[in-house]
Amino acid sequence: MTDAELRRRAMKVVPGGMYGHLNAALFAPGFPQFFARGEGCRQWDVDGREYIDFMCSWGPVVLGHRHPRVEAAAAEQAALGDCLNGPGPIMVELAELLVDTVPSADWAMFSKNGTDATTQALMVARAATGRTKVLVAHGAYHGADPWCTPSLSGTTPNERADLVEFTYNSLTSLEAAAATVEGDVAAIIVTPFKHDSFEDQELVEPAFARGARALADRLGAALVIDDVRAGFRIDLRGSWEPYGVRPDLTAWSKAMANGYPIAAVTGTDALRGAAQTLYSTGSFWFSAVAMAAAKATIETLRDTGGIGSMERAGTQLREGLYAQAKSHGFVVNQTGPVTIPWLSFDGDADLSVALYWSDACLRHGVYIHPWHNWFMSAAHTEADVTRALEGTDQAFAETRAHFG
Ligand code: PMP
Repeated sequence: MTDAELRRRAMKVVPGGMYGHLNAALFAPGFPQFFARGEGCRQWDVDGREYIDFMCSWGPVVLGHRHPRVEAAAAEQAALGDCLNGPGPIMVELAELLVDTVPSADWAMFSKNGTDATTQALMVARAATGRTKVLVAHGAYHGADPWCTPSLSGTTPNERADLVEFTYNSLTSLEAAAATVEGDVAAIIVTPFKHDSFEDQELVEPAFARGARALADRLGAALVIDDVRAGFRIDLRGSWEPYGVRPDLTAWSKAMANGYPIAAVTGTDALRGAAQTLYSTGSFWFSAVAMAAAKATIETLRDTGGIGSMERAGTQLREGLYAQAKSHGFVVNQTGPVTIPWLSFDGDADLSVALYWSDACLRHGVYIHPWHNWFMSAAHTEADVTRALEGTDQAFAETRAHFG
């Protein structure tokens, strides 16, 4: 079954053929919609085309597709049972591992998606403070529930009424936002760096991170780090740990289980009682296979220095792309951590160059994204990045030939 045939069939039985951010119609024309399989840092689409994968399923695949240790742990648990009348022992083991790994974590609660975790973290903050308002960075993505989805379609104004926006990395703006609702701030929710789509990424200013912590303390509000996208690719202890800034609550998901569905909220002792009061559950939230995969993933990242591997591969990619862009006469910006990279072309406001180049990369076996950040995995070897750079070089040459 080809991609084109599947799209035709999907159009009849799936709204729009595909919905949400994985709708390939939103990328460049050559992007496949349907994939057949993945192995290590490679994916194959249903038409049999092979790609070196720099999206890693938009983040979850952090050790490479079908990582043996994770697959073995998942299979062992699956042989015992996945969705039982209650969680397995693995839930306690996984919570212990998170508490041991993450200094700001005294407890953990599990769910399935990043949106579950960000929403649950805000509920804990509200339960603890008895307040309603949440300070949130303008343009930041925290999930797809009515309170945070970027499209207002299907939402009501009430569902957004308790959000007050600030500008990422501006302490003045954060303090001004707080001042408008002084006395009623339940939480400040913030991503570890600015990774909004369609824009160059921005690392956090350490003074902003520390200022957000101090403001939350002054207000008696919870500092929530949304580490759903960046978690386990910057620092296993939490993405603001290198700055010495510890949140009250952290939302985790994506890379936690190398592709198995799981999310978590971790929090401090002070919020344990509030967390306990929530009615928070889901039919599949306690399935044991994803928990076994999560434990194996975090242990493997820890034992093998997985983040260091991603940093080496990401640095090789970044340096290679800078050299190639220059040699083809392009000025490019590469932003964000090297483990969660992105490249934009200078002066490419309508993204026409990025769309053309990403399409050309696909033709040369490299899967990157024109307007969303990419993800490295620990499976990207030096040889894989070298091979990918051959493809990107040809893509730059074709892009130059096209635009003159
Ligand atoms: N927060 C951030 C920072 C994210 O990047 C995402 C997912 N892209 C989410 C929350 C929501 O996660 P999910 O799609 O698993 O609900």
